[in-house]
Amino acid sequence: MGDEWLHYGFGVAAWVIFAIILIVTYVATRGEKKQPQRVGQTFACAGCGRRGANDQMTLVRHDGAEAWYCRECAP
Ligand SMILES: [Zn+2]
Repeated sequence: MGDEWLHYGFGVAAWVIFAIILIVTYVATRGEKKQPQRVGQTFACAGCGRRGANDQMTLVRHDGAEAWYCRECAP
């Protein structure tokens, strides 16, 4: 096996690693897009400070400001 073959081998390995990184990045990005961004996000209640998931909280807007309230504190 000469130097030429060694360089060829490294060239192929570099491309294979590059391809794997591309595939992993693609799959990771796709996986993220599948999940709605809201999932796992929590908000602190502006009334009592308790944290709750998006679907358990009520968004109240006044004067352009946004505040999240839990079920007990929601007006
Ligand atoms: Zn509250």
